[in-house]
Formats: sequence, structure tokens, C-alpha cells
Amino acid sequence: MSVPAIAVKNLVKTFGGSTVLHGIDLEIEQGQVSCVIGPSGSGKSTLLRCMAFLEESTKGTIAVNGEVLGFAENAKGVRERVPAAVNRQIRSQIGMVFQQFNLWPHMTALGNVSEALKTVHKMSRKDAEERAMAQLVKVGLDGRAGHYPSQLSGGQQQRVAIARALALNPKIMLFDEPTSSLDPELTGEVLNVMRDLAAEGMTMVVVSHEIGFAATVGQQIIFLDHGKVLFTGPPQDVFKRPRNSRLEQFLDTYI
Ligand code: ADP
Ligand code: MG
Repeated sequence: MSVPAIAVKNLVKTFGGSTVLHGIDLEIEQGQVSCVIGPSGSGKSTLLRCMAFLEESTKGTIAVNGEVLGFAENAKGVRERVPAAVNRQIRSQIGMVFQQFNLWPHMTALGNVSEALKTVHKMSRKDAEERAMAQLVKVGLDGRAGHYPSQLSGGQQQRVAIARALALNPKIMLFDEPTSSLDPELTGEVLNVMRDLAAEGMTMVVVSHEIGFAATVGQQIIFLDHGKVLFTGPPQDVFKRPRNSRLEQFLDTYI
């Protein structure tokens, strides 16, 4: 068996005095789409942010492709910070897309996608723009390369954000409610881009209330409630026979 894309062990996250994640154990398999569902406030974003090391865990470990990210922990639970350069290298394997697109308003679509390639990866303008354009083609927006975010629909802006993340060549993509701020008629175009990405074999973790997407594209469903994983399994097990009452309640509320 190959090493999991992400292995989360006993992950605890505390903000001030309140514990938001209560010892999460999870494995994200290579090339699979894992969908995280759960009520608002259950800790979905915090879990994703910890996986991307945008948030420091309080306890437990996260390994990305077998390498420990953030903090290593010995058998006695003594934690040691992973060197910053190692964290950066591991972090660079992960791309993230948020509910808010976070595009730079003063840059065109092409500028948004090529910026980090130039500034962080020190690519020449020509090479960066070539790679950025290839990503815009992929999300169906090469015709909008010169448009500013204000000239694009929400769905197009989110596709630019996806192209921007993909341009950095991640091995794993994390999506935190990528369609939640979109009008219903615009969610389809974003979900289709994600569907294509999944079909290409990208490892993806998707927080979403789009149950249809989770059921048809997801290989693993993770149900989070009050900072605990109450269910993991293939979609057919969730939707055909929800045995857990909290999961059943959740599905009743959201479907
Ligand atoms: P979800 O994404 O499932 O809605 P979140 O991960 O955003 O849940 O939040 C889980 C809990 O953690 C909530 O009670 C939220 O208020 C709290 N929380 C999230 N981020 C912070 C923070 N930076 N500081 C304090 N509390 C936070
Ligand atoms: Mg959230």
C-alpha cells in the first residue's frame, strides 16, 4: 500500500480555552477525493487549515506523503517544531481554495495566476505567464485572461483561484466550501472544474454542502460533528444506510 497523501493522528486544536478538534484520526488516500461534511462550527475549516499548516495544531501529528508537517511528536507526546524550511517544502505540495476567492483586485486573471510564479518561484515573466495561461485554459478561462476580478462572475473568479493554486503544481488540493459564496447557477461551473481535476487523479479534500458532488465524485466521506469524526466511509454507506443518528439528523437538515 502506498503511503497516505495525508495522515492525521490524534489531532487536537484548541483556541484559547476551547477545544475545537478533539483528537481527529484520518487518512486521505492518494488520488482520492475525500469530502468533509458536517454542521457549521463543527471544525471543518480548522481541520483543513491545520492540514495546510495555516493553523498550528495543539496536539497530534499530520504527515503529508509520509513527511511530518508542523510538529513532530515522540511516543511520550513531547512535541518538536519541524524546521521552517522543511515545513515550507511540505506546504508547497498543498494547494488551497477558499470560500472567498481572495483574488488581487488590481491584477488581471493572468496576473493573479502568474504572480506567485514570478515572485516566489522566480520564474521569468514569459515562463510564468505561459504556465498561468495553461492553467486558465484548464479552467476554461483563457478567454478572460486580461479581465480583472471585478469584470468576472463569482464562478469565474473562483475558477481563477483554482487555476492560481494549480499553477504552483500541488500534489494535494484542499477546498473549503468553494461554492458557498456563489449564486446557485454558478456553482456548476466550479464543481465541473473540480470534477475534471478529480478525473485526472488529483488528491482532493473538499469541504462542501454539495451532497450531490460528494456522492458522485467523493470516494471517502468524512462526517465531522463537534470536532469529532463520527463517520468515515464510501458515499454509498452514508447515503443508503446512515446508522449514526447525528449523521442522519445532519442529512435531514441539509438535503
Ligand atoms: P466549520 O468550518 O465547520 O464551520 P470552524 O473550523 O470554522 O468550523 O470552527 C470551529 C469552531 O472553532 C467554531 O466554534 C469557531 O468559532 C472556532 N474557531 C475557529 N477559528 C477560530 C479562531 N481563530 N479563534 C477562535 N475560535 C475559532
Ligand atoms: Mg468553515
